[in-house]
Amino acid sequence: VFAAIAQAPEDPILGVTVAYNKDPSPIKLNLGVGAYRTEEGKPLVLNVVRKAEQFLVNDQSRVKEYLPILGLAEFNKLSAKLILGDGCAAIEENRVATAQCLSGTGSLRVGAEFLAKHYHQHTIYIPLPSWGNHLKVFTMAGLSVKTYRYYDPTTRGLNFQGLLEDLGAAPAGAMVLLHACAHNPTGVDPTLEQWEQIRQLIRSKGLLPFFDSAYQGFASGSLDADAQPVRMFVADGGECLVAQSYAKNMGLYGERVGALSIVCKAADVASRVESQLKLVIRPMYSNPPIHGASIAATILKNSDMYDEWKIELKAMADRIISMRKQLFDALSARGTPGDWSHIIKQIGMFTFTGLNSDQVAFMTKEYHIYMTSDGRISMAGLSSKTVPHLADAIHAAVTR
Ligand code: PMP
Repeated sequence: VFAAIAQAPEDPILGVTVAYNKDPSPIKLNLGVGAYRTEEGKPLVLNVVRKAEQFLVNDQSRVKEYLPILGLAEFNKLSAKLILGDGCAAIEENRVATAQCLSGTGSLRVGAEFLAKHYHQHTIYIPLPSWGNHLKVFTMAGLSVKTYRYYDPTTRGLNFQGLLEDLGAAPAGAMVLLHACAHNPTGVDPTLEQWEQIRQLIRSKGLLPFFDSAYQGFASGSLDADAQPVRMFVADGGECLVAQSYAKNMGLYGERVGALSIVCKAADVASRVESQLKLVIRPMYSNPPIHGASIAATILKNSDMYDEWKIELKAMADRIISMRKQLFDALSARGTPGDWSHIIKQIGMFTFTGLNSDQVAFMTKEYHIYMTSDGRISMAGLSSKTVPHLADAIHAAVTR
């Protein structure tokens, strides 16, 4: 009965790794997937994560029972506090409904399913460009996706005017997906002054903001600074949704640890929203896994571990910033034509190089360097050793 099924294409991001794995070249370099690598090119498990795991293993009272539908209550509280801030009025007034979900993607999907079922508007605006999965997550949940202008290829910066025009023209009540920090794939974020203007526009038009926070702490190295845009929206007393991921900032990728918070205007509303979230989640996966969320909660509630985490997180962010500088210097040293200052101006895990798909294909074929066809490279996959190889490849691609 399945004989006629067509072969599906590889995921455009995960497919890069599939192609990389097939390449036997010893000099191959994978800059496709946004996962942190050490200077030696190895995946990193944070010391503080090992410590938390040890702590959990030693605790003989721990069992493997099912979690409630909304997950680990302690983890949910701590996650809301991490993104919304200590002393946040919405938390103190019990106006936040939080569900532990399957990392950032699962949090976005649960949020999208909830909105499709309970929100009067079905159009969500996502930035152009955006993380490739946004379109699919929201479409599969039954929402209709439109884009707002975000990136300006001529300046390799923010098209702020275009953004304001497009959101200004959105129908009242429409939803808006915002990258909380370290926009993926462009690495271009609004300034705090621009965020304030975006906030005023969104509130004055009654649009509903949905933040995707996949890189808190990764952009600047500071958990608080990276949460600032979200906190500005929550401080005005209005509603918003936030999807959080611990994949990058705790390096818990495969543990699938994340949370969806829905900030409401009153405690009784949040309580009803929470009850409906359970109905959304129960038929999808019943309840979330226990291990990763226990690791995150252990780190978040223990002040020594929390401090250690912040230091390790800052070290990851700093290494990425240093890779930007090294790549920029290497291109300057080669006299590579063009302005490459965006490499040091953009923030977060990725650089949106401005290389086109032909140039990307050339670099993959001739230099065994793998990246998404839009020219996005993961700075976290680079090291001092591999920067010269990448700079040679970029130089060759643009002077060809
Ligand atoms: N949103 C953005 C913008 C991302 O870059 C990512 C990870 N690449 C995610 C969400 C989701 O990641 P995860 O499901 O692994 O937490």
